[in-house]
Amino acid sequence: MDPMNDNEVNTAAPPAAAAPRKGRALCMCSGGLDSMLAMCVLREQGVAAEAIAFTSPFFANPAGVTASLAELGFPLHLVDFTDDILALVRDPPSGFGSCLNPCIDCHARMIARAWEFAQANGFDFVATGEVLGQRPMSQMRPGLNRVRKLAGIGDFLVRPLCAKLLDETEPERRGLVDRERLLALNGRNRKPQMELAKKYGIRKYPTPAGGCKLTEPSYCRRLKDVIAHEGLDDARLLGILDHGRLFRLPGGTLAVLGRNRADNEALRTAMRGGDVQLRSVNVPGPTALAVRPAAADEAALRRLVAAYSDHKGVDTVVVRELHAASKPVEIPVPVCGREEFQSCLL
Ligand code: SF4
Repeated sequence: MDPMNDNEVNTAAPPAAAAPRKGRALCMCSGGLDSMLAMCVLREQGVAAEAIAFTSPFFANPAGVTASLAELGFPLHLVDFTDDILALVRDPPSGFGSCLNPCIDCHARMIARAWEFAQANGFDFVATGEVLGQRPMSQMRPGLNRVRKLAGIGDFLVRPLCAKLLDETEPERRGLVDRERLLALNGRNRKPQMELAKKYGIRKYPTPAGGCKLTEPSYCRRLKDVIAHEGLDDARLLGILDHGRLFRLPGGTLAVLGRNRADNEALRTAMRGGDVQLRSVNVPGPTALAVRPAAADEAALRRLVAAYSDHKGVDTVVVRELHAASKPVEIPVPVCGREEFQSCLL
């Protein structure tokens, strides 16, 4: 077309407007329904969503998260959070919740770690599955703002399930996310989430959980005892606190007795140098792990294993002791009752 000739008519179709670039979102995923829905909402509008999940001895098995996300086709990045959460259990700047759960700092630290990961790996922003008003404190507006500020993420945190009720974020301002296609869920009613699950074809999801092991009173009672005696440096101990019955013997030894096959296997795997593994050999009984036992508890440990074995019809239980660096030894122990150990039970 000659720009000087006014009579010329441009009949060519106008060039198609380039589709605005959609963002890459890193979504924090606990394996629960809400985080999966947040990812589906983003994907529906063309955002490339991938998941990040944190692991530690206090959190649920990531296998569940992995399976749910694989079914939906979302890539997953697993990041070890053990050092972070241990530091917060030792010294939570914002304090604990009802047990040993430093929820405010934990949540903020997870967002901060997710944002670090996002920036290092070419993501545009972090997303979560939080719903305004779903939990009494942490998901009220001041709680959501406080955590965002503590995390130091600025305006790069999108909460797709309730974003329309919150201030506009930077990814929305930049057009990486279409605010109009985000949601305005509010409150504790789970019906909207269930409808959305149907819509997105999410068939299997866990019922909403109250929190991690740090919110469970019985687990925390045991954890407090371990903190007082062994400290928090041996992270594998934290993983076996709910793998059986725990005893603190009079000489100070921590002994764990499996309740079933899975516990027994976990205890065998957790054994380290200095520990002793015990079990009855002439009658069925649990595997016991004694963590770096005190010499003063040697006899009590054998009696403990004998007491918790299935010793009907015998007078003597043969207890096999396995030390990491030497051959197992078998020691006959007269049958005794469990009452002796009631006061040692944690
Ligand atoms: S429930 Fe556990 S994992 Fe969740 S924020 Fe609290 S301390 Fe962290």
